[in-house]
Amino acid sequence: MLDDARQIIEYVARRVKARVYGKTFVCPVCHLELSFHDLDADGMVVCPVCGAILHVNEVHGHPLPVVIDMEVLRYQPNLRLHPLATHLPIALMPLAFLGAIVLLFLSIILSPSGDSVASMESLLASLEKGVLFFLYVAVGFSLLTMLSGFIDWRTRYKGRSYRIIFLKLAMGVVFFATGALAVGIQQANLVFHSSGLIEWNAVSVFFCGIYFLSLTLQFVSMATLGHLGGYLAHGK
Ligand SMILES: [Zn+2]
Repeated sequence: MLDDARQIIEYVARRVKARVYGKTFVCPVCHLELSFHDLDADGMVVCPVCGAILHVNEVHGHPLPVVIDMEVLRYQPNLRLHPLATHLPIALMPLAFLGAIVLLFLSIILSPSGDSVASMESLLASLEKGVLFFLYVAVGFSLLTMLSGFIDWRTRYKGRSYRIIFLKLAMGVVFFATGALAVGIQQANLVFHSSGLIEWNAVSVFFCGIYFLSLTLQFVSMATLGHLGGYLAHGK
């Protein structure tokens, strides 16, 4: 089953990448995969990782990138704010997701009026509050993370158009939007009751579906952002 899930995720990732990147080539210096859409009208591009200035031709349908020069004078920030700013959302969001899954699991196996729930009520309510707090911090701080990434793009990469940056911006928006939706639903007590558990009725089942779908999408966008960030930091 895990293998099936992995194959589905890989298939979806391949399709999304093919749609966003189109035809690709690899930087001969650092091996970062770049898109033909990244080339300017003269077929040139500066590799965002290693600064190789590439001219890309197609020979018999195969991309042939040639290193013309290196971008020597590149802005080097003293403080790497963006990699630092990613840590808080990346640390807290999965914790919140895990806490929400625990509450969902307990809501399924425990009867809301049972003695076991009464004895754990304060613990469950605290867990629910903790999930909401972590989500608030992760989503709120992600605005600063995105801002620092945006500033890096404008300075270090001179605001040049790269599909990898476009994908990062898009995934950042998905992370924030899905997280804000989950926070809104939980804050309005549309999923968890004051006991910390889900009361199973039509409304809560509906919002529970949207809530966990939002968290899943947020988790996927976060994993994609980390993955792409790794490529931008280290090549491939
Ligand atoms: Zn490179």
